[in-house]
Amino acid sequence: MTHNAATRNTATRNDRLTARWQSALADNYGTPRLPLVRGAGAKLWDADGKEYLDFVGGIAVNSLGTAHPAVVRAVTEQIATLGHVSNLFVAEPPVALSEKLLELTGRAGRVYLSNSGAESVEAAFKIGRLTGRTHMVATEGGFHGRTMGALALTGQPGKQDGFHPLPPAVTHIPYGDAEALRAAVTEETAMFVVEPIQGERGVVVPPAGYLAAAREITAATGTLLVVDEVQTGIGRTGSWFESQAQGVEPDVICLAKGLGGGLPIGATIAFGATAGLLTPGKHGSTFGGNPVACAAALAVLDTIANDGLLDHVKRTGERLRDGIQRLGHPLADHVRGAGLLLGIVLTKPVAAQVQQAAQHAGFLVNAVAPDVIRLAPPLVLAESEADALLQALPAVLDTAERSAAAGV
Ligand code: PMP
Repeated sequence: MTHNAATRNTATRNDRLTARWQSALADNYGTPRLPLVRGAGAKLWDADGKEYLDFVGGIAVNSLGTAHPAVVRAVTEQIATLGHVSNLFVAEPPVALSEKLLELTGRAGRVYLSNSGAESVEAAFKIGRLTGRTHMVATEGGFHGRTMGALALTGQPGKQDGFHPLPPAVTHIPYGDAEALRAAVTEETAMFVVEPIQGERGVVVPPAGYLAAAREITAATGTLLVVDEVQTGIGRTGSWFESQAQGVEPDVICLAKGLGGGLPIGATIAFGATAGLLTPGKHGSTFGGNPVACAAALAVLDTIANDGLLDHVKRTGERLRDGIQRLGHPLADHVRGAGLLLGIVLTKPVAAQVQQAAQHAGFLVNAVAPDVIRLAPPLVLAESEADALLQALPAVLDTAERSAAAGV
C-alpha cells in the first residue's frame, strides 16, 4: 500500500483524524496533536502507519507500555466478571489493591481510591481541612492538578488565572528551600504538599535532604506532610515511592498516573492517625475503587515486582542519562531527574523544536518547559530502545537548532 497521498487522496488518515478532533474535542492544550491508533510496549503507531518509540508514556502513565499482556488479561477477566460495583458494596480488587499498596509502604494506613491525580490531591486537601486547620503551604512551580482544590495548591499562577477566588489560605514558597518552609509553617498550618521532583515544572530536583527536612519541620508543628507522588510514584524513579527511597514517612501520599498502567485511577494513602480523618460522609466518588481499574493496578504492581522492573528502571535511566551527557552536544546542557523521569536541560529555549524533530525521526518526547525535554518512557523500555534514542539524538538536536535559527 502506498502512502503517497497526492496520487489518491490529498488528506491522509492523520489529517482526517486531526480535522475531526479539532471540530469535536475541547482544545484545552492548544498544540497540534499527533493522531495515534495503536501500540505495543514502547512502540506506538500513528494513523498513517508511522512507527514511534514512546518516551512520553502517556506522561508517566503507561508504566508497562501499551497493551502489556498482564494488564490486558487482568482488565479482560475483570470486566467479564464484575466491571463495576457501587461503593454501597465492596469488591475484591479495591481491597486487594489497598492491602498491596500499604504492604509496599510497609506502614499502617487507609487508602482512598479515585480516578485521577487531581482527585487524589483533592482527597488530600480534604484530609488537610479535616485537621481543623485551614492554612496550607505548597511550592512555587508545583503542579497538583486542575480541579479547584488541587489548583489552589498548584504553584503556577498562569494556570490559576481566571479561576479566582480559589480555596483560600494557601501560601506558596520557593521549592527546595527548607528555611522558607520553616518560616511559613506554624501550628495553624494544616499541611505542606510537595512533589519529590517537580515534574510539570520541568523535572526540577530539589537539594538532597529537602524532603527529610520537610518531614522534620512539619512534624514540629503537627502539620501534615503530603507528598504528591502522582508522577514519581510506582517505580518511575526506580523505587516504589520516591519518598520511601529517601527514607521519609509522609502522612499522606498521592498516587495516580502509572498506578493503573493506562487505566484511570488515583489513590490517596493516609497513614497512622491521619487515616482516621476521612470519616464516613466526608468524601466519596461513584467510580473510585472501580474493580477494572484496580485489577489493572494490581497487574502493574505484580509485574513491576516479578519482572524486577525497579532495578531495570535504575539501570535504563542511568544508561539514558550517561548516554545523553556523553554526547556532549552543545544544545544539551545537562540531564536531571531520577530513574525514568528525566529532563534534558537545553542551553537554548528550543524544546518545542526538539520535540518536533524527534517526532519526525520517530521518537515521541515532551517539551515540558521552553528549555526542557522530559523523558518518561514505559518502565519496560528495553536498553536497545534507550540506545536508539541516544543514536538519533545528535541529529535531532542539530535539526532543532537549525529550525530554531530559521525561525520555525
Ligand atoms: N500531581 C502531579 C505531581 C502531577 O504531575 C499531575 C499530572 N501531571 C497531577 C497531580 C494531576 O493529575 P491528573 O492530570 O491525573 O489530574
